[in-house]
Amino acid sequence: MRLHWHRTDLRPSDNLALTTGDDPILPVYVFDPRVLTHAAPPRVAFVRDSLATLREWYRARESDLLIVRGEAPTELARLADEYDADTVSWAQAYSGLGRRRDDRVADRLAADGVDHRVVHDHLHHEPGSITTNQGEPYAVYSYFWKKWRDREKASSVAAPGADRLADPGVETPIPTLADLDFDDPEATIPPGGYETARHRLNEFCSGPIYDYESTRDRPAADATSRLSPHLAHGTVGIRTVNDRVVRARENAPDEEAREAVETFRGELAWREFYHHVLYFNPEVVTENYRDYEHDIEWRADAAELQAWKDGETGYPIVDAGMRQLRAEAYMHNRVRMIVASFLTKDLLIDWREGYDWFRQKLVDHNPANNNGGWQWAASTGTDAQPYFRIFNPMTQGERHDPDAAYIREYVPELRGVDPDLIHDWHELSPTQRHRTAPDYPAPIVDHSERREAALAMFERARGEA
Ligand code: FAD
Repeated sequence: MRLHWHRTDLRPSDNLALTTGDDPILPVYVFDPRVLTHAAPPRVAFVRDSLATLREWYRARESDLLIVRGEAPTELARLADEYDADTVSWAQAYSGLGRRRDDRVADRLAADGVDHRVVHDHLHHEPGSITTNQGEPYAVYSYFWKKWRDREKASSVAAPGADRLADPGVETPIPTLADLDFDDPEATIPPGGYETARHRLNEFCSGPIYDYESTRDRPAADATSRLSPHLAHGTVGIRTVNDRVVRARENAPDEEAREAVETFRGELAWREFYHHVLYFNPEVVTENYRDYEHDIEWRADAAELQAWKDGETGYPIVDAGMRQLRAEAYMHNRVRMIVASFLTKDLLIDWREGYDWFRQKLVDHNPANNNGGWQWAASTGTDAQPYFRIFNPMTQGERHDPDAAYIREYVPELRGVDPDLIHDWHELSPTQRHRTAPDYPAPIVDHSERREAALAMFERARGEA
């Protein structure tokens, strides 16, 4: 008998641990208080939803998902003893925290004479498998991408047959958010579960993927896959995604559509790139990846930070993004880049504040992508935005949301306002602003001044000023 410990692999099919070997499998999920201190209501809600669907799948096969609360080493050792399991399997973790926890579990099991099996499941290509010719992990994405793109990809695997699954003989409830000491999320959380993920993947690959290249930077178009919570929590397997995407490429109506599919694959490669970065540099969750000669003198300004969190900066595209985050536990990628640039280069506030806010609010947070995105924007990461390339939030808004449809969706104070006035908000006089949208704030900072201050801050850090 083997226990399979589900974590960020909340699906029955294309789950490599469930199809390896021929021993009977008893599936387990552990709500571990140590891990939950890093969780947040949107993700716990999504996980609960996904567990309910996964449990139904097992129950339909005369098995069941055991759901327990407690520290993973203790709980897994206890269950291994109770069910006389000789092995516990799980999918590879990438963060320092996850790997330290897994080491503790492995040690605890070993002390009881129980084996463990770690399966590579979450990525196409594991850290260490795509390296420079000198065997080093890549620090530059474009080189990583070329190797990643051309490397053969494994296909998805079917779910295990019912004959492989054991019955725990008890029913365990899924704890509520309140049981786990979480408030209800303030956002509307997208439905979880492997079926929803499949549906979303098929929908995206049947049409929208062909326009991805031209629409992905248009937040109002909502034209991206929205697979991020599913990839983060493993309600879809990466091989399933790739199989479907490759099929879409084969069926592409023309060269432009084929290229759009390739651009989408490029985003999946960014995900793997950042997982490799995190794996080899676990300290990046709290430290700059890239060292400057001196410390960057970030400003601590509680009022400006709060205005950013609340979507009250007076920069419409920034505020729309921050309010989308609170309303949906999600934000469009282009807008994530804009708000991250605004926090670090206009407010000159440490990226760690932004990372942490996203960690609390996002349903798709995972340390690799969240950290990769923040350190890119802050010019402290691998292959990051150069420090002197500073987004202008007004021109970004005008370029990517020209008719202000996205802004007006999330900022009701600007709903009836002409897009030209919205994009010129920083240039309007106080009287014009009051006449146009009296409840919407004036810009809290002057972008040109702050841009100069940011350049000076980075130049000091580089030892040039
Ligand atoms: P699509 O455009 O459909 O992309 C498909 C998948 O590719 C995504 O689901 C994601 O898994 C991956 N992907 C796309 N863009 C990126 C990227 N830039 N870096 C790494 N992987 C990518 N993504 C997260 O999954 N979790 C996070 O916590 C997260 N935090 C971010 C923070 C910042 C500051 C920034 C700039 C980006 C962050 N991203 C994060 C990356 C990206 O914004 C989201 O993956 C994307 O918006 C999710 O929407 P989608 O699934 O529709 O994306």
